[in-house]
Amino acid sequence: MTPLVLPTAVLHETLGLLRNGGELRCERVALWLTPAAGGSVLREVYEPYQETARDYFHLPPESLQALMARLKSGRLKVAAQIHTHPAEAFHSKADAKWAIVRHSGALSLVLPRFAATTTVATFLEEVKIFELSEAGEWMLTPNRGPDARLLVRP
Ligand SMILES: [Zn+2]
Repeated sequence: MTPLVLPTAVLHETLGLLRNGGELRCERVALWLTPAAGGSVLREVYEPYQETARDYFHLPPESLQALMARLKSGRLKVAAQIHTHPAEAFHSKADAKWAIVRHSGALSLVLPRFAATTTVATFLEEVKIFELSEAGEWMLTPNRGPDARLLVRP
């Protein structure tokens, strides 16, 4: 499948959102949107209303409704999600259970240490990128090289 393209400006904005959560010592999730009709460029970051704690985030029903309304009005879809962890980056059972993206080929990214030290320059060193397989499993994918599923571009 074609890799998703993440513009550095969108990445920069996303890291700011995630760090705002980290300053409260809380996880935070952000969503990357693309046109529903297709397109591989992640043009927009969306921060859903969320309930968070140190090792937890949850989108209440009204937040999911607001997200669905936003997607419908903008003819958009959620192509990928990214969230922070207090320490190590991995895809937990809860992450799989509560994933907002659920289509085969969707990406779910996790950043360690509340993204406190992550910059556009260090992003690919720190992030873990998981892809939902056709069998419904979240598989770790390489951050670089020919099999990379995400390209960071100016
Ligand atoms: Zn998690």
